Amino acid sequence: MKHVDVKYVGLLSSRLDQFKKKTNNLYNFRCPVCGDSDRNRYKARGYLYPSKDRDSFVFKCHNCGDTRSFGNLIKHVDSMLYKNYMLEGFGKKERHVEEREKPKRKKRVRDVSFLENLGAERIDRIPKNHAVHKFINDRRIPDSSLSRLYYVHDDKVLEKVDPVYRDRIRGNQPRVILPFIDRDGELVGIAARAINSSTQMRYLAFRLNDKAPMIFGLDQIKRNSRDSVYVVEGPIDSLFLENAIAVGGADFSKLESEIRKDKCVIVFDNEPRNREIVKKMKKIIESGYRICIWSETIKEKDINDMILAGVPASKIQEVINKNTYSGLQAMVAFNSWKKVSI
Ligand SMILES: [Zn+2]
Repeated sequence: MKHVDVKYVGLLSSRLDQFKKKTNNLYNFRCPVCGDSDRNRYKARGYLYPSKDRDSFVFKCHNCGDTRSFGNLIKHVDSMLYKNYMLEGFGKKERHVEEREKPKRKKRVRDVSFLENLGAERIDRIPKNHAVHKFINDRRIPDSSLSRLYYVHDDKVLEKVDPVYRDRIRGNQPRVILPFIDRDGELVGIAARAINSSTQMRYLAFRLNDKAPMIFGLDQIKRNSRDSVYVVEGPIDSLFLENAIAVGGADFSKLESEIRKDKCVIVFDNEPRNREIVKKMKKIIESGYRICIWSETIKEKDINDMILAGVPASKIQEVINKNTYSGLQAMVAFNSWKKVSI
């Protein structure tokens, strides 16, 4: 066992609930990935045990099944500590190790008020005769979600989000703002959808926190609940489903650090001829996720299109539930659904 790894178990232990040393190289604590049992706060099913080469540790949770290297566990719990661990364990810049001793300064985080400070207006507060409501109505976005959406009359103001965007926005475009907010209420990013169809850049995306994965709706999902979380590609599509989030694209790997695998139902757009998407779906099935394989009768490309075709949201949710599979069954359904070979 490397000395530095033993040392960092010690440093990390204060951040781990119910931490206990079981035997010489075996530690037990509440899993920081899934949070362990909701009902019993003494349940602790996370373990650190020696890696194969016995140089370091491996983390495993017997509740959620998460397995990761010791380094990745540190990263999950405390990114600053992880930086120091990497420097001390693998780097040569010993002087940086001193940083660890500094008291951690509490970072000021941005919340949605940041959008209002930019001049964005919450859509549920905008009079119904305003042009933005035509876009909302055309897409049949539910009234209940309008308090989550914002509007800017001129997208030039979005340059103020970060100096890196300066002079990169042409301006004069009205946009609907979809704020990406994490569980703690921090605004980590925004997507800005043009409301005029003639606009060349339909979506603009901004990151406000480089470390946080861009997932839309994390602030809305039920915590400590057994209900499934539906994970779709597009933020607007997520507004039609109960307890849904969106990855804003087709990269579902970013979920891993944020939400338990067994809680997720992955819902790709309905694109059986899109080779890239089909490949990604196969990977998702292989990694053990539950997945919706749209039935043959569904012809629309995504959830918003289904809504526009007259399918009620509750019916879509029902279709998804009926067509959710995992493992071998998912693979069988997937193979008959896809229209390209990969
Ligand atoms: Zn766990």
